[in-house]
Amino acid sequence: MGLKESPLEVAVRQLDLVAERVKLDPAIHRRLRKPARCYIVSLPIRMDDRRVEVFEGYRVHHNTSRGPAKGGIRYHPDADLEETIALAMWMTWKCAVVDIPYGGAKGAVACNPKQMSRTELQHLTRRYTAELVNVFGPKTDIPAPDVYTNPQIMAWIMDTYSMSVGYAEPGVVTGKPIAVGGSLGRNEATSRGCVFSIHSTLRRLNRHLDQQTVAVQGYGNVGYHAAQIIHDDGASIIAASDSSGGVYNPKGLDPRDLLRHKQESGSVLGYPGTDTITNAELLELDCSILIPSAMENQITERNAARIKADIIAEGANGPTTPAADEILFERGKCHLPDILANAGGVTVSYFEWVQGLERYFWTEEEVNSKLKNIMDRAFDRVWELAREEKVNMRMASYMLAVKRVEEAMLLRGLYPQ
Ligand code: NAD
Repeated sequence: MGLKESPLEVAVRQLDLVAERVKLDPAIHRRLRKPARCYIVSLPIRMDDRRVEVFEGYRVHHNTSRGPAKGGIRYHPDADLEETIALAMWMTWKCAVVDIPYGGAKGAVACNPKQMSRTELQHLTRRYTAELVNVFGPKTDIPAPDVYTNPQIMAWIMDTYSMSVGYAEPGVVTGKPIAVGGSLGRNEATSRGCVFSIHSTLRRLNRHLDQQTVAVQGYGNVGYHAAQIIHDDGASIIAASDSSGGVYNPKGLDPRDLLRHKQESGSVLGYPGTDTITNAELLELDCSILIPSAMENQITERNAARIKADIIAEGANGPTTPAADEILFERGKCHLPDILANAGGVTVSYFEWVQGLERYFWTEEEVNSKLKNIMDRAFDRVWELAREEKVNMRMASYMLAVKRVEEAMLLRGLYPQ
């Protein structure tokens, strides 16, 4: 295996490892190594200067045995079909590990949203939705936000779909603004769920949050809210980063003020009272909790031996390679995998979908307490399984998830036959 694995190689390797361990049915294993279906769409968009630019978009369904396809949409210059397949596969396991009735999907458009105007992004989003209007639907495929997409983009998806079917359909997409059927608590849900899993870990280790120092890689939706929630709960945020680099102050920083600085200046860099560090340095900082919340392939066999944090909670999808998993496990790290630690986002997306279908909306307290129940239950199952089987938390999460998907596939059987 080369030093740099693609997200898809990582995702398939993770499945192969668990398939061997749980003696997965060989035909089901072969089936799960591949997506169920992939759509590639070509998106001609008139830019503000009247030029026509052609973008490529993707939507992948990995497996829908347990329910409709569910997964975010990413706008990123490096997005491609392979990465989207990997992310869809991770969604299948994530929905299964927290036991919500969805299959795994993901979407992406290869574009640089930072260089696009609001109008251009709206045209792109509407054309992408129009191309996939027969694929999306509240009973078939329900998108959500991911990297560089947000509630406004979800509102345009909801509107484009609704115009096509002829009635307002909030159930077609989650992560919407509250005014068009979004759920209270959805914006922070991924991070809140991640912090719940950190609390559960600390309880098991008999440690207290107010003695912990935290480094957060990626200061977007997931990273910022994780920093803000864990800071309010009593931990000290000592470092944070974005695509331009990171800032560090061992005495702690105020996450809300750091966000204000990022909004005003475009980056976390230059935040008063901090030293500038690289993203690579942030990962290796002397802290007790590390929350990777940016992109894939950040913790690899090259840096895993130098990670000092003893709790690593994956806000991002796919930040750690299988080789790095092994190194961290041997070093006794408490490593909370993406499919568990960041499952709070899709869990509250599930709540938003249910609320939208029923046109009956819950209070924020209801959302957060139902989220806590689901996250705590999944965490306990995974923690116990990891102890019983003497495996790391990723393997235990996969064992639980893949067996649930296998059971659904075997019960449903083959069609036609
Ligand atoms: P976002 O677009 O809101 O934020 C991404 C952040 O990462 C930005 O601050 C950006 O500057 C930073 N970034 C980008 N490339 C980077 C790099 N190479 N190094 C360091 N920082 C970098 O996206 P998000 O929704 O917060 O998603 C972040 C991660 O969390 C992704 O892996 C995503 O798949 C995962 N995730 C998101 C959700 C959700 O509900 N939004 C749910 C589960 C998992």
